[in-house]
Amino acid sequence: MSEALKVRLDSKLAEVGSVLDVEGVLAVDDFVVGDRSFSAPEGVAYELTITNTGATVLAMGSVEAELQGLCDRCLEEARLHLTGEVDALFADDPDAFCEGDDEEEIEVLPIVEDMIDLTLPVRSAIAVEIPFKVLCKPDCKGLCPHCGQNLNEGSCECEARLAAEGDPMNPMSALKAFKTKDRTGE
Ligand SMILES: [Zn+2]
Ligand SMILES: [Zn+2]
Repeated sequence: MSEALKVRLDSKLAEVGSVLDVEGVLAVDDFVVGDRSFSAPEGVAYELTITNTGATVLAMGSVEAELQGLCDRCLEEARLHLTGEVDALFADDPDAFCEGDDEEEIEVLPIVEDMIDLTLPVRSAIAVEIPFKVLCKPDCKGLCPHCGQNLNEGSCECEARLAAEGDPMNPMSALKAFKTKDRTGE
């Protein structure tokens, strides 16, 4: 069950320069990255400082989450502890802040009915931290490409058998076979 994290810009944030700290845990839907999916059963913990800067409202802080997904090598469960940074800017009229020639493109989000919606910034701060390769442990041995044995749990006979037979998948043994044939053809 996902939630929304919305903060009302009420009296606590009415004055220019006023600051409000918010913290809590946001329940989120699974993170889907390509064909991989990660759940955050305990949600995303956030600690944010919201500042009324006058023209804009700034939300900065940190987020933390424990994700569960599959190991890219052995397909068993992998857990990820991730931390990220939130840096979000809100304005009544976000289009007025489109600085096209600015090197750093900061996305300005809209203030809707005196509320800022921090759901996406909090979620994104974790999503960008998901590594390209996710492993159950740094030295995961993965699965045998021949028989599918999980090599963390035990070895299989494939390595020994293929070494004895001459692995047809191994380009070196294929080359050896080709050279031998070539020579006999002369
Ligand atoms: Zn693994
Ligand atoms: Zn095997």
